[in-house]
Amino acid sequence: MHSYDERLTSLVFDYMKDRLSLDPVPLDNPGVKDKLEAALAGIITPGGTDPEKVLNLYADQLAPAVISADSPRFLSFIPAAPTKAALLFDMVVSCASLQGISWLEASGAIAAENQVLRLLADRAGMPEGAGGCFVSGGSAGNLSALVVARDTARRRIPAGRLRVAVSDQAHSSISNTLRIIDVDALVVPSRDHRLTGESLRAALAADPDPSNVIAAVATSGTTNAGIIDDLAGVAEVARERGLWFHVDGAYGGAGLFAPSIRHRYAGIEHADSFVVDPHKWLFAPFDCAALIYREPRLARAVHTQDASYLDVLHTEGDEWNPTDYAYHLTRRARGLPLWFSLAVNGTDAYTEAIEKGLRLARETAALIDGTGHLELIREPELSAVLFRRTGWTGRDYHEWSERLLAGQIGFVTPTGWEGETVARFAFLHPGTSMEIVKEILDTMA
Ligand SMILES: *Cc1c(COP(=O)(O)O)cnc(C)c1O
Repeated sequence: MHSYDERLTSLVFDYMKDRLSLDPVPLDNPGVKDKLEAALAGIITPGGTDPEKVLNLYADQLAPAVISADSPRFLSFIPAAPTKAALLFDMVVSCASLQGISWLEASGAIAAENQVLRLLADRAGMPEGAGGCFVSGGSAGNLSALVVARDTARRRIPAGRLRVAVSDQAHSSISNTLRIIDVDALVVPSRDHRLTGESLRAALAADPDPSNVIAAVATSGTTNAGIIDDLAGVAEVARERGLWFHVDGAYGGAGLFAPSIRHRYAGIEHADSFVVDPHKWLFAPFDCAALIYREPRLARAVHTQDASYLDVLHTEGDEWNPTDYAYHLTRRARGLPLWFSLAVNGTDAYTEAIEKGLRLARETAALIDGTGHLELIREPELSAVLFRRTGWTGRDYHEWSERLLAGQIGFVTPTGWEGETVARFAFLHPGTSMEIVKEILDTMA
């Protein structure tokens, strides 16, 4: 099973070519458990099954039971829209068994990943020494970064509970992280859903003992509504108080490439750690998140396995081991598909594709504003648009969402906003057009 097999290779390559050339890809549907299990029954046998039969099972039964995140009609959660170059190079990473654990083993891959991390750090305005690694997602990035924040603070505060200041709008992965690392939250009320320096300062001033607050987490921007926190204000308070400043840009960090909104990220250059998910709005395949530290040596002191925790001041050589910057050890060189695509397409193409999603959100907002039975909830800052259909109950939204998917018109799930069920579009696929948006909005008449 390790020898080259021409027929197997052609079968899979042909399938991949078909999938890559679908334009648009079908939206598809959630599967039915019994049906899927029946289809899978008996496919794994002691002697093996003909690859054509297995591939057909996948293509005919399994693939249609996966809603295509890369469909231009996938407008729920955060969609995906990987470039062709990135998808193809992901296959190269697989074919070549490219890992990106250590410099000794994988310097060629790591040098390319680091070139991309440097480009992202430059967009954020982080200093020359900044660096990090690619991890599987924003959740893994937030966890890895806040472990560093905690352990760095532990050197100053050896005993007692520690706390991290977070907005009530922070992503669920932040509260998960705090639970995992056994750190409490100082929940700072947001103003109009935005964490500001002022509200953080007020919360710290009102707290009986703020000395155990060791970090502040800001979001650029929120997943639900695309709201970018007051990064400059939060950074200033963090500086005053000696807090670690973490910026979660898993979704919105890509906006650093968009001149029309770049000013909203002012202050991000002060981040001690910053996360952006290329598998979201930088058009990379799953699973790819960039994690960048202002002072990577602090991360190294925490995450390096098998190394002395006291070796913090050890001077940096040329070697860069991605495994030293997050909780992982073995990792695929998951930054390479993005590297290849950036090199092939150029950064201007990224800027244009991101601006396209922003324009679509603005045009959609204007259309909703001008439609009698629809109400825009707020002007979009990024590419998420929240709106309501006047007179609808939560149930109406859910039934509408199911009808849209059943008709393969769109995958648009309702969301919550200030206790109310509302509709939400998340744009980022350059193939999503105003025609698709109109087609969906027409179903709300
Ligand atoms: C998506 C998202 C995350 C989680 O990222 P995963 O890649 O899904 O782990 C964290 N924070 C924000 C703001 C996000 O949008």
